[in-house]
Amino acid sequence: MIDKNDWRLLNDVDNLRGAYINPTDGEEICQNAKHLDHCVFCYDTVNNDRHQFWYVPENISCCICESCFKDFNEMFKWRLLDGYDIEWTLKDTIDTFIQKDQNT
Ligand SMILES: [Zn+2]
Repeated sequence: MIDKNDWRLLNDVDNLRGAYINPTDGEEICQNAKHLDHCVFCYDTVNNDRHQFWYVPENISCCICESCFKDFNEMFKWRLLDGYDIEWTLKDTIDTFIQKDQNT
């Protein structure tokens, strides 16, 4: 069981509650989403390694390492997708999304 006061929850992760999450790997992230270089929870580094498992929300705003995904899956009620239709091109529009969020 993860404590509600776990240090990893001090990061800006509230927007991930109930998110749809795609599984991926370090190699894919390095190739497609260079702006993602660490786990949003524990700051673990993304390695260019297809055997390192990672998880990304639909809008690819961040990435989550395998152990944090396991630890917080229940608390955040994530909905796991199959990972086959990750829209990596979305990364170009993320900045726009973030700005919209801040304006509302
Ligand atoms: Zn992590």
